[in-house]
Amino acid sequence: MTQMNGTHAGAAAPAFEVKDLHVAVDGREILRGVDLVVCPGEVHALMGRNGSGKSTLAYAVTGHPRYQVTQGQVLLNGRDVLAMKPDERAKAGLFLAFQNPIAVPGVGTGNFLRAAVKAVHGGEAINALQFRKELMAHMQHLKMDQAFATRALNEGFSGGEKKLAEMLQLAMLKPRMAILDEPDSGLDIDAVRTVSEGINTVHAQQADMGVLLITHYQRILNYVRPDKVHVMSKGQIVESGGPELVLELEQEGYDPILARHGVVGAEEVTADGR
Ligand code: ADP
Ligand code: MG
Repeated sequence: MTQMNGTHAGAAAPAFEVKDLHVAVDGREILRGVDLVVCPGEVHALMGRNGSGKSTLAYAVTGHPRYQVTQGQVLLNGRDVLAMKPDERAKAGLFLAFQNPIAVPGVGTGNFLRAAVKAVHGGEAINALQFRKELMAHMQHLKMDQAFATRALNEGFSGGEKKLAEMLQLAMLKPRMAILDEPDSGLDIDAVRTVSEGINTVHAQQADMGVLLITHYQRILNYVRPDKVHVMSKGQIVESGGPELVLELEQEGYDPILARHGVVGAEEVTADGR
């Protein structure tokens, strides 16, 4: 691998790189040395049981104040993400979709997206007419009702609609790197398929976008085919491989893989103690 100094990353620079990342929450170490390299255009799946630290990685990368990076690096196209303010991360091309999207009462989805595109790409990047045209085209792709654009963001949205709204945001923002935390969580199989098609459509339109798809279940990976698969346990990636890992997980669950790494028995603890 070529050396990068963070200022002039060449075309060969990974889209996203995590190096020996340690993260603590309330003084307790949750991530204990995570390494990950996503090249442009690659889709990586990050899998693991509940409580293994998957969302912690997403929160730490986005700069959530509760998630304290105690060691390690995160690079976006060779640039130091952790040195950037949260809004700078988005401008640099990082997109994060969280497990539980928040509602934005009183703000129409279309207006929210317009503001988001302006904030990330600048006001001149796209005019109102272009924006509307593009928005409608993406909504059609995602099989979303046109009325969606005028409804307040995530307010009274079903689980599936919230996830679709995030895919719409992804399509409009065109990031270099998208981290999607359980875009399948709480969805029925039809909604999983629609969300997957959304991810695939955006990826087809933007072939050099890197994707880190975080999921507990293999189901979504039948529709969004990963190039690489990682299994996380107790704050570390314990195994990485190709799509065959998904098959193994589908057939045997997490137990055999985790047992190979000395993790046996109970589910890992989650934030609310379940
Ligand atoms: P996953 O997304 O894989 O289910 P998380 O990253 O949510 O796992 O959680 C990993 C560990 O970090 C759990 O033990 C959880 O209790 C702890 N943790 C994560 N976020 C918080 C938080 N905000 N407050 C307290 N503990 C947390
Ligand atoms: Mg999670």
